[in-house]
Amino acid sequence: MNFPQVVVFDLGKVLVDFDYGIVARKIAANGHMAATEVQKFIDHSPLLFRYETGLMTKEQFHEEICKATGYRGNMQEFGQVFGDIFEPIAPMVELHSTLRKKGIPTYIFSNTNELAITHIRQNFPFFSNFDGYILSYEHGAMKPQAKLYEVVERETKRRGSEILYLDDRLENIEAGAARGWRVILQESSEKSLAAVRAIGLIS
Ligand SMILES: [Mg+2]
Repeated sequence: MNFPQVVVFDLGKVLVDFDYGIVARKIAANGHMAATEVQKFIDHSPLLFRYETGLMTKEQFHEEICKATGYRGNMQEFGQVFGDIFEPIAPMVELHSTLRKKGIPTYIFSNTNELAITHIRQNFPFFSNFDGYILSYEHGAMKPQAKLYEVVERETKRRGSEILYLDDRLENIEAGAARGWRVILQESSEKSLAAVRAIGLIS
């Protein structure tokens, strides 16, 4: 097995925590649907899938949300509400910084959308310090679709066990492992840090 040459990070629940409950409450407060229903409508919905696969614009996404929930906020307000749900996971941000100091290339590999990325880029400086970004909505595919993993291999110019990949979702990790990547299923920061240490990338 090769020693990892690059580290590929999932974003949500690996480097930043998020809570769609916050969006749901703000949308419910300015519409006619209850917060629990709004959350169900957004979280893992076909609508969010379409948006994060790049099949609809943020304007279309906003319009669909308004139609379904009665939300009355304009596009700018919606963008703020939808983006402002993230909180950096400090030990993981620190791990990333340690890897950078050691000269190890790092990449973001995320099922995500333009509103989230715009907000994260503006608010969290660590996000600018990666060698590359493989974002679902820019490639018309979502993890665990093979197409998106192929983009990672192309962009990193690495494959198999040269790639170390961290993600909190089992199906995503399994798709990486099936390609021979070294993988860490993130269950807690502590466990992930211990696993990276065991590989020998950090001391
Ligand atoms: Mg995740």
